[in-house]
Amino acid sequence: ADLTVHFGSRGLIPGFSRPPVKAVNAVSLSLRPGEALGLVGESGSGKSTLGRAILRLGELTSGSVLFDGVDMAHAGAEDIARLRRETALIFQDPYGALNPRMRVGDAIGEVLRVHGKVSADAVEARVHDLLEIVGLGPGFAHHRPGDLSGGQCQRVGIARALAMEPKLVVADECVAALDVSIQGQIINLLMELRTRIGMAMIFIAHDLAIVRRLCDRVAVMYLGRIVEEGPTETVFAAPRHPYTASLIRAIPDIDPDRRLPADPLPGEPPSPLALPPGCAFHPRCSQALAWCRTGAPPPLEGQGPHKAACILPPEAVVL
Ligand code: SF4
Ligand code: MG
Repeated sequence: ADLTVHFGSRGLIPGFSRPPVKAVNAVSLSLRPGEALGLVGESGSGKSTLGRAILRLGELTSGSVLFDGVDMAHAGAEDIARLRRETALIFQDPYGALNPRMRVGDAIGEVLRVHGKVSADAVEARVHDLLEIVGLGPGFAHHRPGDLSGGQCQRVGIARALAMEPKLVVADECVAALDVSIQGQIINLLMELRTRIGMAMIFIAHDLAIVRRLCDRVAVMYLGRIVEEGPTETVFAAPRHPYTASLIRAIPDIDPDRRLPADPLPGEPPSPLALPPGCAFHPRCSQALAWCRTGAPPPLEGQGPHKAACILPPEAVVL
């Protein structure tokens, strides 16, 4: 199940176009019902592109994504229609998801009616419930998106997506901008839907602490590739890729007794237009060997569910 997403990229001279850039390259993912996969990495690593491609909302040139036995990448019109009913994307952009003319309560109620998840006379009560859960309260049912702040809009978008009780949700940085207490409530709601309706989730985030709390598995992306994947606790306890280790070291320590300073990874990822030769992470890797600069990019491999794309033996990776 390898997924590749290409982007055409135009040069600066009109009419001159460069070959397509691989924004996401040979990624392979499979998800079980109820499973939560965290997708982490810096901006520009391809996380959002991959998330949209999985739901067939983005360009997809080759590859496949399996969910519950269905190949999302090769779905026909009928399957796509089913995909639209059974999956939801929770946006990073709070305004893009809502119709500006529709009252918030109607926008959420519409979803409940179309998807038939609750009886007609229960719609209003469920709308109020959902608004309560995302920390807005029933009073907001009468507002229009234009009356709301960005954070409030975002919460309406979340309520609307979850009203569908989707089988698979892709949540792209969906709680990053919110208050910690609202974050907690929304995370609880996501967890509740996982157990109650078996909703699977791809949770795209910068915040590794939330991923650790919420996700069974984690996949780490760097420049369009997955460089490490495995059960969340295993990956956090003993990362096998120096990039993952650096992301973990960059988590601010909230335990006051161990006040180690967060140690951010220096530098920016290079442009996907000019991938470094060898291991694409080598210019920023504190453990790079001479070989890493010239050899073939290491494949994602490992025994069992924990895999990494690094030539170092697992025990050599420094956390
Ligand atoms: Fe670092 Fe080399 Fe491993 Fe790449 S292959 S992550 S450069 S040690
Ligand atoms: Mg993004």
